[in-house]
Amino acid sequence: MSVLELSDVDAYYGNSHVLFDMEMAVEENDIVVLLGRNGAGKTTTLRSITGTVPRRTGSIVYRGRDISRDSVDRISNAGIKLVPEGRRIFPTLTVTENLQVAHNACSNPRDIEEMFDIFPVLDDLRQSKGQNLSGGEQQMLSVARALVQNPDLLLLDEPTEGLAPVIVKDLMEVLSDVVEEDVTVILTEQNVNFSLELAERAYIIEKGSPVWDGTVDELRDRDDLLEEYLSVS
Ligand code: ATP
Repeated sequence: MSVLELSDVDAYYGNSHVLFDMEMAVEENDIVVLLGRNGAGKTTTLRSITGTVPRRTGSIVYRGRDISRDSVDRISNAGIKLVPEGRRIFPTLTVTENLQVAHNACSNPRDIEEMFDIFPVLDDLRQSKGQNLSGGEQQMLSVARALVQNPDLLLLDEPTEGLAPVIVKDLMEVLSDVVEEDVTVILTEQNVNFSLELAERAYIIEKGSPVWDGTVDELRDRDDLLEEYLSVS
C-alpha cells in the first residue's frame, strides 16, 4: 500500500483553478521531488495534502484513508508535517523555545534533545534568537521544528532556497538520515542538482498538471525534459 496517493486532485484559490487532475503515488521511505517552473503548482500540491489550500477536490488517500475532507489539524495529527517556504520560525524566540513551541503543540512529539543530535549546528545555538541565525541555520531550525513533531510524512517546500552550497550539502545529509528513520519525504525544488542527488523519484508539474514521473536515474538522462519543463540545459 502506498503511503500517499493523490487521484484527480483539483485545487482552487477563489475562482482561480490551479491544479488539474493531479496524480501522485508515494511509497514508504521514498524521497519524492516535485519539479517545475515558478507557478507550476508545486506549493499548491503540498498545500492540498496538508489541507491548507482553500478548496480541493479529488481523493487524497494517506495510509489507506481518504483525508481530502479532513481539517488541517486532523491531517497534521495523523503525521503529515509541512516545512513551508521561507522558514517561518519565531524570530524573537530562542532556538530551544522555537523547538519547545512545536513540541508542545504535538500529542506524540520526539525528544528535543534528539534534535540537537541530528542538528549539531543548533546545539551550539540553543540560546540564540531565531532572528540572529543565518539563513542556513534558520532552515535547519525549520526542519527540526517539523521533525520534533515526529512526522511520518514530511513535506518540504523549497528547502534549499537561498542557501549557500555548503549548507545545501549539510541539509542533504540530514534529510538522507531522516529517511533512514522511517520518514517518507516529498519536497519541491528549483535546485535540480540537489533534487537529482537526494531524491529517488520525481514528478514534473507544468501548469497545474503532472506531465512526467519516473525515477531520478531516468530523469538524469532526459535533457529534453530538463530543458522543456525546467529551463535547465
Ligand atoms: P513557486 O516556485 O513560484 O512557489 P509553485 O510551482 O510552487 O511555484 P504555486 O505557488 O503552487 O506554484 O502556484 C500555482 C498557481 O497558483 C500560480 O499561478 C500562482 O500564481 C497561483 N497562486 C498561488 N497562491 C495563490 C493564492 N494564495 N491566491 C491566488 N493564486 C495563487
